[in-house]
This record gives sequence, structure tokens and C-alpha cells, in this order.
Amino acid sequence: MPTAKNLTYLRARNQGAVLQTLLQGNSITKQELSHRLNLTPMSISYIAGDLLEKGILFENRSAPIKKDTPGRRGVALSIAKERLLAVGVSVSRRHLRVSLVDLCGNTLKCFSHQHDGEVTKDSLTSQIINDIKELLPLAPKEHILGIGVSCIGLVDIQKKTVISTTDFYGINNWDIGEVLQKEFDMPCFVAEDMKAAGLTEHYYGTAKELRDFVYLGITYGVGAGVIADGKLLEGNRGFCGEVGHTTLHHDGIECVCGNRGCAEKYLSVSAITERFGLSDWQQFVHCCKNKHESRVVETVERELSTLIINIVNNYDCEAVIIGHEGALLPKTFFDSVNNQVNNRILARSVKSVSIIPSSLSEKIHQLNGASIVFFQLFAGFFKL
Ligand SMILES: [Zn+2]
Repeated sequence: MPTAKNLTYLRARNQGAVLQTLLQGNSITKQELSHRLNLTPMSISYIAGDLLEKGILFENRSAPIKKDTPGRRGVALSIAKERLLAVGVSVSRRHLRVSLVDLCGNTLKCFSHQHDGEVTKDSLTSQIINDIKELLPLAPKEHILGIGVSCIGLVDIQKKTVISTTDFYGINNWDIGEVLQKEFDMPCFVAEDMKAAGLTEHYYGTAKELRDFVYLGITYGVGAGVIADGKLLEGNRGFCGEVGHTTLHHDGIECVCGNRGCAEKYLSVSAITERFGLSDWQQFVHCCKNKHESRVVETVERELSTLIINIVNNYDCEAVIIGHEGALLPKTFFDSVNNQVNNRILARSVKSVSIIPSSLSEKIHQLNGASIVFFQLFAGFFKL
């Protein structure tokens, strides 16, 4: 059913677009904002004036101004980093991280806990609540937009619930979003960790300048965050981009999802190490670097290329960023995958695609939860 948007939403959406452009473009003038966002100079002046008055932006007279800025040269605007913050929760297979992060991607404080012994929904929830109670006094409450939870597993974004996880203490139907929203009386959003990682890469990583890319996380699972035209592709309930459960081998290994031959069964860290009898991921990286076990390395390069070709043909992206443990793979591995992909994508006569490692490494886990909140800010959810 089509939906209409009222003027208040449009104002918040334009405000969000200005903030996102300033974040990804660093300090820029009102003239350039007007040019990049295709908004009239009057609209930009109104939005910028309002954000300057609220202390969310400031005039940065020391920032360099691009020589080709259209129109009259002006003063660059910058984001006042301490003014907009978010609480980020990141639940990965091995760690829980709870952090307070500003819009510029600085972590004010982060609690990190390695999962230890029996983990339950209750034990995770109470640890998260305790940590958030420690973080909130670090900033004025009106500066903290909300809480974002990034979690492994299948996440229903509408119900703010982790529906199911694989090999993670049997955790399912975890309504963490509702619980935190009630406990702290602030907006809370929940998303699958790879989607959050796609946002983090877009706001703070190597994909700042890209409009269409896929973050492909290779870790103890395989998943993706798809950014299309600068926005996260979520699907109605948040189930879009589950590339780890697309089929690589029709009659292949049985998967917990009920299918056979899923990409995750061949390309996750555990799948690669177990299948080829390697002691750990480092040993596989070592094989790639030193051209040992060439049959093993070539098999993984070929299978990963096949998955990426399917991704590129589906999403028409300009780059695929390989993240999580996959980012540790050496240049030779990326060169080989780049060649195979660009020789076999459908549109190879008119485009090429870059396969590049994520630059964020461990920091991605500190930022993921907050990125979900900032995504809502840029989409016009918050009225500042
Ligand atoms: Zn599967």
C-alpha cells in the first residue's frame, strides 16, 4: 500500500541527509551541500541555521574548502561530535560489547565481555542493562538518541526481536528491543550484525564514497549488508541479503536452515578450517600468503568468487567489501578473486567491480550498534 509523508517527516529527512553528507564528506560549505543534495540554498540555510542554533553543527573556519565548490565561497560546516550520541550493543558469537559512540564514530567508552560458561537471554539482557546504566551518565540524556542492538542470527526489525541463532546457546525469540525500550524509555532498534556492519563501513570505513556496495562478512557464519543508493536494503521484516544461505552446491552439505550446499557451509571460518583440516584461520591466511596448499586456496577462491558473482548480478553493486575475519586475507587472494569475478559477471563489458578488504577490523564491533541508530537519524526518524 502506498504511504504519504507529511512535512514534519520531510524536514527530518532533509535534516538527516545534511548530517549524513557532512559525516561522509567531512567539513563542507552550505553551497556544496545544496549542490550535493539538490536542495535549494534557502532550504539548506534553514536546516543549517537550525542545527547551528542547536549546537549540532558549528562553523569550522580552519577546515579546507574544496577549490571546485560551486557558487560563492563560504565557511565549512562540521558536526559537533559530542552533541549526538548513541548507545550501541553488539552481540557476536564470542563477545558482548556495549558502547557509547558519537556521530563521528568516536567511542567514549566500551564494555567488552567474552562469553563465558552458560549464556542465556536473561544473562545477556541483564549484562546489557547494567552496562547501559553505567554509560548513560557519561553524557546529557538529551544528547543520546537511542539504543541500537546488532546481533548474530535472524532478526525481525519490526518486532525488534532476534528470532533465531545458530550455535549460540540456543537463543531465539529474544525481544531485546522492547525490553531495552521500556527499561530506558528511549528508542531502540535491532538489526542483524552484517547489516549493521554494512552501515558502519558506509559511515566510517572504506565505503564512505560508495553508493552501492555489499559488505560480505566472513566469520563463523557468512552474511551480508547490502547498501543500495546509499541506504541499507532491509526487506519488509529485515530478512534481505541472507547470502550465506544461497546455494553453492545443489547436492551439498546439509545446513541448519533446511537447505543443502549453502555458501556458509563452505566459506565460513569454521567451514574452511574443518573441511581442510587446518588448525585455525591464521593457518589459512598463512597458506594464502605463502602459496602453500594451493589446492585448498584455489578451491576457496573459486567458491568465494562464485558467491560474489551471484551477489553482483543480483545487487548491481560497485564494490564488495570483505569484512570480519575475511578482511585478514592477503592481497594475492583478493587479486585472484577480483580477476575471477570481473571475468564472469554478466555486465563485465560495461562495468567492473572492486573486491576489497574492510579497513575497520575490531572497531566495527564497537560501532555496529550505534550505526543502526544513526541510520534512523539519517532516514528522518528523529526530530532534532
Ligand atoms: Zn543454509
